[in-house]
Amino acid sequence: MSVRELVILGTASQVPTRHRNHNGYLLRWDGEGLLFDPGEGTQRQMLRAGVAAHDLHRICVTHFHGDHSLGLAGVIQRINLDRVPHEITAHYPRSGRHFFERLRYATAYRESVQLTEAPVAADGVLAASKAYTLEARKLAHPVESYGYRLVEPDGRRMLPERLASYGIKGPDVGRIQREGALGDVTLEDVSVVRRGQRFAFVMDTRLCDGVYALAEGADMLVIESTFLDADVELAVEHGHLTAGQAGGVARDAGVRHLVLTHFSQRYDDPDEFERQARAAGFEGELTVAHDLLRVPLPKRR
Ligand SMILES: [Zn+2]
Repeated sequence: MSVRELVILGTASQVPTRHRNHNGYLLRWDGEGLLFDPGEGTQRQMLRAGVAAHDLHRICVTHFHGDHSLGLAGVIQRINLDRVPHEITAHYPRSGRHFFERLRYATAYRESVQLTEAPVAADGVLAASKAYTLEARKLAHPVESYGYRLVEPDGRRMLPERLASYGIKGPDVGRIQREGALGDVTLEDVSVVRRGQRFAFVMDTRLCDGVYALAEGADMLVIESTFLDADVELAVEHGHLTAGQAGGVARDAGVRHLVLTHFSQRYDDPDEFERQARAAGFEGELTVAHDLLRVPLPKRR
């Protein structure tokens, strides 16, 4: 069984607290690891969460504020120290390339790993494989910010009773899957579409088209909810979301599992974020993130 889960490394906006590290999220997707927004202290949080440098294949940075990127220096040096044998690709807003270069070469170390930079400069597809297509969409924040989304290609689920009714069995099942037909029987006659899973990652932004485009139909949406609804004016002013806004996005987009995170240190009751997202009408699964939590992708529909 392939593992698809979110490992939460940190959940604090702006500054770490006694209980929350700066941001950091690892998505395990089959054999691959995608590290999103490594804030300060991510290297140590990886250790605490049982995530090795070898587990990383991609790094996706939404924007260059410290709580989303200061951990790059440590993580990149650790990847090299541990001589990760495979290529690692890093995505980040191209307008922040100078920040990435500074963090990548913050201090002296021996570079041993192929770290490929693939900056983002527009909405669109960044990478495509059998396992997923990775897309970016521009968000709305005082510094340029991009959200990310993984979309697994649709597959087909074979229907045993239909196969039996056409007398298809044994190696012929594989043949019709590969070739699309067997005599007069087509693949469509004996199978239905199995929708690919979708994961969306939406960090610092105010409400904008990109937020909705990323969240649309997501099996799991990880989204910032920096503020509670009473502070919506602060949220708009600083380019952030409230818990109610995040819940409203998830409701409208048909999200199955909503993960709220990136909390301002001004609040002390995490449950209030859930209450406000629920009050906005979101009825799916909901997790208020805390450090070192693992959240599995929901089972296929
Ligand atoms: Zn932030």
